[in-house]
Amino acid sequence: AKKNGKNGFSFFDPKLQEEIIEKAKLTDRIRHSIEHKEFSLYYQAQYSLEEEKKIIGLEALVRWIHPTKGVISPSSFIPVAEESGLIIKLGNWILEEAVKQLKSWENEQSKKNWRLSVNVSIRQFETDVFIQTLKAILDTYNINPKLLRLELTENLLIGNIDRALEKIFQLKNMGISISIDDFGTGYSSLAYLKALPIDELKIDQSFICDIVNNKNDEIITQTIISIGQKFGLDIIAEGVETQEQVTKLMMMGCNYFQGYFLHKPAKAELF
Ligand code: C2E
Ligand code: CA
Ligand code: CA
Ligand code: CA
Repeated sequence: AKKNGKNGFSFFDPKLQEEIIEKAKLTDRIRHSIEHKEFSLYYQAQYSLEEEKKIIGLEALVRWIHPTKGVISPSSFIPVAEESGLIIKLGNWILEEAVKQLKSWENEQSKKNWRLSVNVSIRQFETDVFIQTLKAILDTYNINPKLLRLELTENLLIGNIDRALEKIFQLKNMGISISIDDFGTGYSSLAYLKALPIDELKIDQSFICDIVNNKNDEIITQTIISIGQKFGLDIIAEGVETQEQVTKLMMMGCNYFQGYFLHKPAKAELF
């Protein structure tokens, strides 16, 4: 803050001011990019640990293909899109794009059973029209909802739990499955298991990263796997980069994994 004579500091903070302006610019830029379709979905394969590295599905990961800056990663625009509410529009586009992709794989023998996991921001999930919008998209493309899995995160239970529960039941009735992303990092992770009819736990990459050398990470991962097994859930590890991690996870009873070890997120055409 700026020194302001004997009063100490003024309310005018040029650095903060600059940040606000930057964020407003970025928000405008994102809005423009949604309209001009500058976003693209990449896909990362998910493999079975039980059936010799067979692809069982994919996760859709959004990228911003900026005309001058090139490929921009979601961590630099998703939070701003969430804060501004633009995530709802962007999220709808992501859902439709993902379902379109499922449609195009429908006629390929090797791909037609691939399940597609799509990240959904809580902000989008919470809107009243979420289910309706999703239904409309599935109807338009006439896609088997069993092929769609939604990845939701920790904040899900912070708001109105009854509403969240009701929506999850509706999704389940439609045949859509639910994965809890970054499991173990948020608060009330265990509360999900108690409250929600979920299908999959996704072990956060922060636990997987050092799983071979760090005893604590190993204990946490083993605990998540054991809990998941008792609840009859699928368990997927993310951020797997080495054969040692794969071997370890296999011994621990994990079902699936995804990570740079076998596959980096790529455009659909590359599959
Ligand atoms: P996430 O859902 O936890 O996704 C996992 C992130 O780990 C992805 O980063 C992925 O590219 C990266 N990753 C995959 N394998 C490895 C690995 O072996 N090592 C390492 N170090 N990283 C790996 P990405 O694509 O940059 O996405 C970052 C986050 O942005 C995602 O975290 C998710 O929270 C959000 N995001 C991405 N796509 C979407 C989307 O379509 N909608 C929404 N709402 N959020 C998205
Ligand atoms: Ca995810
Ligand atoms: Ca994650
Ligand atoms: Ca995450």
